[in-house]
Amino acid sequence: MIQTLSTRTVCCKLSLDAAAVTAIRATAEAFNAAATYCASVAWSERITNKNKLHHIVYGPTRVNYGLGAQLACCARDKAAEAVRAARANGHDTCPTFRPDSSIRYDARTYRLMSLDRVSLNTLTGRVMGQIVLGEFQRRHLYDTSWKIGGAELVQRDGTFYLHITQTKLNPTPDEPTGLLGVDLGIVNLAADSEGETYSGATVQRVRERRFQHRQRLQTVNTRRARWRLRQQARREARFQRDVNHCISKKLVAKARTARKALAVEDLTKIRERVTVRRAQRRARHSWAFRQLRSFLSYKAAQAGVLVVAVDPRDTSRTCAVCGHCEKANRVDQAHFRCLLCGHTAAADTNAAVNIASRAVRQTAYCAAPTPVGGASTSPPALAVGI
Ligand SMILES: [Zn+2]
Repeated sequence: MIQTLSTRTVCCKLSLDAAAVTAIRATAEAFNAAATYCASVAWSERITNKNKLHHIVYGPTRVNYGLGAQLACCARDKAAEAVRAARANGHDTCPTFRPDSSIRYDARTYRLMSLDRVSLNTLTGRVMGQIVLGEFQRRHLYDTSWKIGGAELVQRDGTFYLHITQTKLNPTPDEPTGLLGVDLGIVNLAADSEGETYSGATVQRVRERRFQHRQRLQTVNTRRARWRLRQQARREARFQRDVNHCISKKLVAKARTARKALAVEDLTKIRERVTVRRAQRRARHSWAFRQLRSFLSYKAAQAGVLVVAVDPRDTSRTCAVCGHCEKANRVDQAHFRCLLCGHTAAADTNAAVNIASRAVRQTAYCAAPTPVGGASTSPPALAVGI
């Protein structure tokens, strides 16, 4: 069993004096121009390996953009990762970075002096900043079981934030004594194989209300309305994340207490698989199933709970008792009645039981966080706080 690594990001507001702001703005501009250059080279030469890219771009980056040795490496890394992600997602244009995009800092380019003071590399030497620590940030940064790594300096609406990365080794998972199946849906965001459901009714109501609000704002299209739209989008994302956190936490705790592994649907095909009415399509597509799923994976990894991904095909129309598969088994959205053996159950619970029993026959363990030593795929970076 490979041991995995969890990563989390703590977002802290920065308080900077005017001179520091000027230095950082100029650095961000040069840094992102350099990253855009590195990305264009990586893109046209089809390079994603950082070492290979380094040999070509290091000299020009330092000479043309005035970056120090370490910041030049950080710009190269940011570019290489963006190009790799763009290729993996099938994009056909090279990624570029805006002048006010983030600056990446690593262990050599920034330093936490105490936990509320930070020293940052700029084009004109180091500047000091004050980290505004809330109770939340304090608790996370002072937790010494998490190791502090690199950081991204982000600007938004004229304010600077430092997104500090922390890592921790996950415990080796216990040998499970059973499986807890989980079915993800719209009406019930999640249902487990023991009959418990995690409702999405509140979520749907809130989303519907906000959708209508958004449409009103879009027809107005003034500066103020656009600002409101952005604000609303962020609020909605926070709400959604909070709901996903609560559900995944409950499920992982339940599995842990019962010493069970979690069985979940393999979501890679979910959009193709699910046929939904037009009216529901927006809810289905905009709801962050992937987020819930990734929260489940990383929380499970941190708690030492195994996660098994199964092919979800036909789980909602197959009888959990006799295995008879027929579309008409599912009476309506909520109810399941087997046409062969007469077994009745809540439709989501029936699906969750099927997922659990499929997992028993299958051993595709899916631990989402990065295996130690392999740094190519990034784990679900959880942005917490602000
Ligand atoms: Zn049956």
